[in-house]
Amino acid sequence: MAAALIDLDAAASTRPIPPSARVRELLEGRVWGNPSSLHAAGRRLKQTLDEAREVLAEAWRAEFGEVLFTSGGTEAANLALLGPALAHHGPRRRVLVSRAEHHCVLHTLAVLERLGFQVDWLPVDRVGRVWIDGLEAELGEDVLMVVAMHANNELGTLNPVEDIRARCHSVGALFVCDSVQTFPALPPVEADLSFVSGHKFHGPPGVGAIRIRAGTPVEPVLRGGGQEREMRAGTENVAAALWMAEAVLEHREHPEWTDQRRAARDAFADELDPSFVPTAPGVPTLSGHLHGRFPGIDAETALIRFDRAGVLASSGAACSSGSVEPSHVMLACGYDAKEAGEALRFTFSKDVSPDLARDAARRVNACIQAIFGNRTP
Ligand code: PLP
Repeated sequence: MAAALIDLDAAASTRPIPPSARVRELLEGRVWGNPSSLHAAGRRLKQTLDEAREVLAEAWRAEFGEVLFTSGGTEAANLALLGPALAHHGPRRRVLVSRAEHHCVLHTLAVLERLGFQVDWLPVDRVGRVWIDGLEAELGEDVLMVVAMHANNELGTLNPVEDIRARCHSVGALFVCDSVQTFPALPPVEADLSFVSGHKFHGPPGVGAIRIRAGTPVEPVLRGGGQEREMRAGTENVAAALWMAEAVLEHREHPEWTDQRRAARDAFADELDPSFVPTAPGVPTLSGHLHGRFPGIDAETALIRFDRAGVLASSGAACSSGSVEPSHVMLACGYDAKEAGEALRFTFSKDVSPDLARDAARRVNACIQAIFGNRTP
């Protein structure tokens, strides 16, 4: 019998909490309608949607009207970057960002360049964090926005976001923060625009949210009806928004999840073959994150073996093409292409116990030893 699967890819997606009876009513079509309709069915759904919005606003320490629902982190990132650019007709033509950001940011910036903005790259240290002196050197009154993620999705390291925000605001630039990997587990960042994704914290996939701080000039990207305060057209997915809000409430009920993730990560790391080289030893990271390499073994070879052994891990960002590319984050940190092609990410959700983590490590070790054993000297 094949060994049970052990999911060590929580940074890619997490198992949704069981839907409540109210979510099920919507999913099973016992309650339906359009939250923009003025009749009773519409009003009922609008109320449910606003309840969900209230929960997110509280977790974000935001005003109720600052939170808008989207189809996920990627759509929210597009609005967070394109929205302020489309709304700006003044002299601020530069955007500052590092190459360690998620592709939903990096690929959207290419559109900003086509709109006539100049993208200038911020240096990062060896573990993917924006280097503050480098930011300071680039900042000026011609900067429209600075984009920096709260935690890096590959390495799990944390940007000095408070420092970045303060420096942005000192020159009147906007601070845009990708909070996908930290919300709602860590205290929220006071950015002008920030965004989150339901499936990263035990909500369903295909739903997310953006916070646009009151007074921030933003033009909508999706055009159509006047939903979400005319900022994001399209009929809202009420079931998904409510389910995501319930996941936020579950997090509030279970502060111990952070320690559970850490315990699983540490148990795994302790058991792991000593040839593993962690990328950020001794550096604060998300509690359930372990990133590193087995030097000499490319990530694709390792991941195929792990998969066969029932251990689900990744080389970094989940990629729709299914291929393993050298990690752009590792390249941004100064690693060479060979090293970047060896990068592995093991990420632990609350659902992985330390015993299961040790089991996974033993399976990983067997794979690594088999790969080395197959090598002809
Ligand atoms: N930003 C970061 C840091 C992520 O890890 C992800 C997902 O991998 C996203 C944005 C995109 O979120 P979504 O999957 O909801 O589109």
